[in-house]
Amino acid sequence: MEGRETPATDAAGGREDEEPLLRPPAPASGSEEEAEDCGGLWELPVELSARRPECGRCGRPEKVCLCPFLPVHPLKVSTCLYIIQHPAEESRVLRTVPLLAACLPEEKCKVLIGRRFSEDRYPELASVCRNKNTLILYPGAGAANLEEVDLSSPDPYVIIIIDGTWSQAKDIFFKNTLFRIPKQVQLRTSLSSQYVIRTQPTNACLSTLECAAISLAIMEKNDGIKETVLRPLQALCSFQLQHGAQVHHSKEHLLKNGLYDKPMPKNKRKLRRMELLVNNVKI
Ligand SMILES: [Zn+2]
Repeated sequence: MEGRETPATDAAGGREDEEPLLRPPAPASGSEEEAEDCGGLWELPVELSARRPECGRCGRPEKVCLCPFLPVHPLKVSTCLYIIQHPAEESRVLRTVPLLAACLPEEKCKVLIGRRFSEDRYPELASVCRNKNTLILYPGAGAANLEEVDLSSPDPYVIIIIDGTWSQAKDIFFKNTLFRIPKQVQLRTSLSSQYVIRTQPTNACLSTLECAAISLAIMEKNDGIKETVLRPLQALCSFQLQHGAQVHHSKEHLLKNGLYDKPMPKNKRKLRRMELLVNNVKI
């Protein structure tokens, strides 16, 4: 198993105190390149694992393929998922959407990457948004609880989920009028995020994969779907934890337990948001 990339401090030869955070890691042993020659390359948000051969099904590096945790056959569902993915999510090394897609038939899980979705450029998405059986998972003020929504139409449903951080999702939702056409729904769930290796703003903030698993289970009236879709995520988390990843508690957990070790924001609006988090006010 390959270890994490760590700066080779020994090769830097007694220059440890010189701006260690700004200096690129010394080239790996055997490389004759000057550090300057990598100018900027080391700053790219790409980890070594991103360049290793990937499994065609689960999108994970081949050595840590999660296919054994995926269902043998794609799940039979009538609901179609549309994942609207912020471009920053696509390049993350720990992505959950490929795992979700691998659990579902191709035609039931569509992933669209971008920030802006105009009617002209996305006519298919526009007609999906105008379909009365389309819901969008967005916890705005007017969102209904998905469990309480009448899902008795004989025609298949579509659910749109925005994949990104909370502020990216908010931006995508508000800047694209198409997404304000479908009925807004939210999940009222007691499930705490199992996706412990990525900091979530609140304990109840779920990853896209978790949201999709719960939504599909409700819409298909089949609880087994949730377990099947969450299994690869659990495997991913336990694998990462065994290999040195740290449990990331939510910011809410850290603040409430006095464990938040980053400087408090100077910006008053951000500070107010953090206060609201501590006091359990939905933001
Ligand atoms: Zn795989």
